Amino acid sequence: MKTLPKALIFLCKEIENILFPPCCLLCGKLNCSIWCEECKKELYEKAILKIEKKDSSYYFEKHMYLFRYEGKIRNLILNYKFKDKSYLYQIFSEIIIKNEKICGILKKYDIIIPVPIHSKRKRQRGYNQSELIAKQIAKAQQNLHYENKVLQKIKYTVPQSSLKKEQRKQNVQNVYKLINQEKIKNKKIILLDDIYTTGSTANACAKLLKENGAKEIIVVTIAKD
Ligand SMILES: [Zn+2]
Repeated sequence: MKTLPKALIFLCKEIENILFPPCCLLCGKLNCSIWCEECKKELYEKAILKIEKKDSSYYFEKHMYLFRYEGKIRNLILNYKFKDKSYLYQIFSEIIIKNEKICGILKKYDIIIPVPIHSKRKRQRGYNQSELIAKQIAKAQQNLHYENKVLQKIKYTVPQSSLKKEQRKQNVQNVYKLINQEKIKNKKIILLDDIYTTGSTANACAKLLKENGAKEIIVVTIAKD
């Protein structure tokens, strides 16, 4: 098939902008970027950026998160995860990518791995919310490799959010599998997830990575409950 001339592509884009003007992904107001100044300001004010060092009872060294899991942020993440609003990955990624302090930390790592979801869940949802964000971070960071074929979720479990805190550890036992040991040997790893509650999910994944040769792990989440 012949490729379209540049002028025609430009014209198509212009028509598309008139028919579907770009709107703020959060409030829907007409806007020329992915979000409007008001929403941006509001979210940046809510961002707390915390880094917690973990003790030896965990298989990862640090946990970094952007928000408390409450109010508008909680709604936003729930929409992102359960209401088909996959496009919100752009907002979360941008907050991470544009933050110099976060990037300064992330550039010390070799690979970024999104916490996997079960293939059945991915088919139902259409996407893995952590994959979308991890991919964007890797794109923005030189020398950071995106790896989504290292960990696999082999058991279909009930969502962690539906369980009591004490049941969550049990729910993630033996549900993940390492499928590519070579890729993680001696590597410094960023493990990306959306929400951190008890740390059971992150710890189950980190345990597999550490026991198979990973050097260091930081867990990065959008929010902490
Ligand atoms: Zn807005």
